[in-house]
Amino acid sequence: MTLLATSAWHGRIHTDAWTAGAAGVLDVVEPATGRVLGSVGAADRSDALAAATRAAEAQQAWARTKPEERAAVLRRAGALFEEHAGEIQDWIIRETGSIAAKAGLETHIAANECYEAAALPAHPAGDVLTSNEDRWSFARRRAAGVVSVISPFNFPLILSIRSVAPALALGNAVLLKPDPRTSVSGGVSIMRVFELAGLPAGVLQLLPGGAEVGQAVVEAPEVRVVSFTGSTAAGRKVGETAGRLLKRAHLELGGNNALIVLPGADLDLAASAGAFGSFMHQGQICMTTGRHIVHESLLQEYVERLAEKASALPVGDPSTGQVALGPIIDERQRDNIDRLVRAAKDDGAQVAAGGTYEGLFYRPTVLTGLTPRNPAWTEEIFGPVAPVLGFSTIDEAVQLANASEYGLSLGVLGEVGLAMEVADRVHTGKVHINEQTVSDEANSPFGGMGASGTGSRFGGAAANIEAFTETQWLTMRPEIARYPF
Ligand code: NAD
Repeated sequence: MTLLATSAWHGRIHTDAWTAGAAGVLDVVEPATGRVLGSVGAADRSDALAAATRAAEAQQAWARTKPEERAAVLRRAGALFEEHAGEIQDWIIRETGSIAAKAGLETHIAANECYEAAALPAHPAGDVLTSNEDRWSFARRRAAGVVSVISPFNFPLILSIRSVAPALALGNAVLLKPDPRTSVSGGVSIMRVFELAGLPAGVLQLLPGGAEVGQAVVEAPEVRVVSFTGSTAAGRKVGETAGRLLKRAHLELGGNNALIVLPGADLDLAASAGAFGSFMHQGQICMTTGRHIVHESLLQEYVERLAEKASALPVGDPSTGQVALGPIIDERQRDNIDRLVRAAKDDGAQVAAGGTYEGLFYRPTVLTGLTPRNPAWTEEIFGPVAPVLGFSTIDEAVQLANASEYGLSLGVLGEVGLAMEVADRVHTGKVHINEQTVSDEANSPFGGMGASGTGSRFGGAAANIEAFTETQWLTMRPEIARYPF
């Protein structure tokens, strides 16, 4: 049996079972060709509210399920991601415009997220505390209840499963609201895997739809925790709503990540790292290298080598050829990229490579000679654009790196002692020395600071337990205590 045979899910959402959505259907469109690949069901607000109520009921029994049984479901899910990796990758390539290597990374990490999460049910559920009273005292970790996961289009599988897997493992029910442009890769594939892995009905509910459904899964009264990954603008709205309703929201938002190239760095390796950081998945990654900060002694040569690489990278339909870059997800995103590149040119920047597009295929682009106030430098472009600026002192490099509202990832290339000095002085959730800015592992804390979000909420047992459980203080005496009243 194939995992994603359309007969199983075509035109449907999944609440307790595959069913029609109240908002009809959403086309699944291949950005490389504009072809409609199929359709998923479209949920509306009423679907989301009903799903939350049903999830809360199902969660009660799921939280009481033996830890070894919950772990087994997660292990089977990991194995299913491996067994059906090729089929899921085909959908990721076509639905999101990914090259095969990126699609392979998504299924590989999805399996790892499930295996890491499989260890959580058997993890100690809290602490035995000391007390000044004659009693036992415990801090107990308990499932939060219903968790809503809202995910974006760029790495739809990883950015959904990194919350879905630990939340389920810890005894929560989950409402999954993928981006409407990537509902199969970020939703249907996960729903089908957990269906086959034996997760009880109602514990995971799939609600494809747009912002309205996203708002509903935040507002639904049964939802206690929201895990949102997406733009800073939408994240602020989710955070505001969650704050007003006194719910916890984990917000993983945009980035404008710097790559610092220190004096003496190997130029060939540095340009290769810089090209990967800026152009991988068409620059549509929150950790994409959005600012190259290069020592003045290397600047000219670095720009030349980066531009050479950019000009040589093949761009095209990833499902039909050996390309390095596929299409941008849609016209709106492409127009935003082009707006920023044009604004940079108007402000005096030179285009050392690229700067043009055909349809949704944007050429990898290198910009130099811009000012640090240029929007192409200050804004998250979310496209294959590498703006480069020079620096003379380490103080200046640190100041340039920190002069951003975002704070997700930083790469530093060169001598390790100097790189550590930089790492100690930057405000980012991740630092990668002698690597570019894009990196993610299931067991490592992931998250940003400032406009990049509320910080390091995912990855590793400690972060995931903190994110998806509530602490209850429990005291106990052998007999009823005596009081002066
Ligand atoms: P987006 O914010 O428009 O959409 C993301 C998700 O939020 C989608 O599912 C969307 O339907 C939903 N949504 C939109 N408005 C909402 C609202 N008001 N309430 C509830 N849900 C809402 O994001 P996008 O622009 O399509 O995605 C790219 C952005 O995501 C970039 O800024 C990127 O940096 C960021 N991102 C961050 C991370 C991270 O881990 N920090 C990872 C990937 C992408």
